[in-house]
Amino acid sequence: MTSSLFDLSDRVALVTGSSRGIGLALATGLAQAGARVVLHGRDPVVLESARAELAGTSGATVFTTVFDVTDASEVAVGVARVESEVGPLDILVNNAGIQRRNPFVEFTLSDWDDLVATNLSSVFFVGQAVARRMVPRGRGKIVNIGSVQSQLGRPGIAPYAATKGGVAMLTKGMCADLGPSGIQVNALAPGYFDTELTRALVEDTAFSEWVRTRTPAGRWGQLHDLIGALVFLCSDASDFVNGQVLYVDGGMTAVV
Ligand code: NDP
Repeated sequence: MTSSLFDLSDRVALVTGSSRGIGLALATGLAQAGARVVLHGRDPVVLESARAELAGTSGATVFTTVFDVTDASEVAVGVARVESEVGPLDILVNNAGIQRRNPFVEFTLSDWDDLVATNLSSVFFVGQAVARRMVPRGRGKIVNIGSVQSQLGRPGIAPYAATKGGVAMLTKGMCADLGPSGIQVNALAPGYFDTELTRALVEDTAFSEWVRTRTPAGRWGQLHDLIGALVFLCSDASDFVNGQVLYVDGGMTAVV
């Protein structure tokens, strides 16, 4: 009974930005829980190698799709293609994201625009395209990837924090509008994880040590730390959990 609550057998899941890093780890976790996973990104060559590796290690059937999450019309076409080639989406994980670092007074308009488009507008575009299909079916799970910056500021990343704060509020608004249609929309907010996006921070020994001392768990996150929370939010176990931000951060946001 308990294990069937978390069973994702035959659920169709799209994870945006899953060619590498956190997205690929999340897609792997969903595949291991039984889902039919669609990997996504902009580079078909990188995607194909991620697909082959995941299919080989998990034994699951894994699909790929290519579209730019910042282009609303590409998103609509891409989502339609996924549903016709793979099947109706049960699960969407809005994970694609970028980081840019600069002092506030030096931030360029184009970096601001890129951050807002990739981290926030994308959640609206992909979320809306998928929700329009989930609503008539009366069910679905949407998980938006936030960050500890959904509630904490840091020098040099004000625009990123603004987008991730926006993701937390968009999650609540989507819950309000989609909850009555049987759709749960929650956010999963990772602490500091070692990926390409954080490579500069990992290589900065002073910052790396700061993360360890600032985090009650005393370490950086490892990608597998995210899987249990994600599977919970994508499964029947969370059918009455809606509009929440679940921090998987070793306790960082709980303490000053
Ligand atoms: P990576 O840079 O490792 O991966 C980002 C993914 O997003 C890639 O697959 C990339 O593929 C894709 N992507 C980027 N821009 C676009 C676009 N315009 N259209 C389609 N796909 C795109 O990042 P992480 O794995 O570290 O981060 C993933 C998410 O987790 C982000 O939302 C990030 O903000 C969040 N996060 C990360 C933390 C960390 O410590 N690493 C902590 C908290 C949150 P491609 O470039 O080939 O298109």
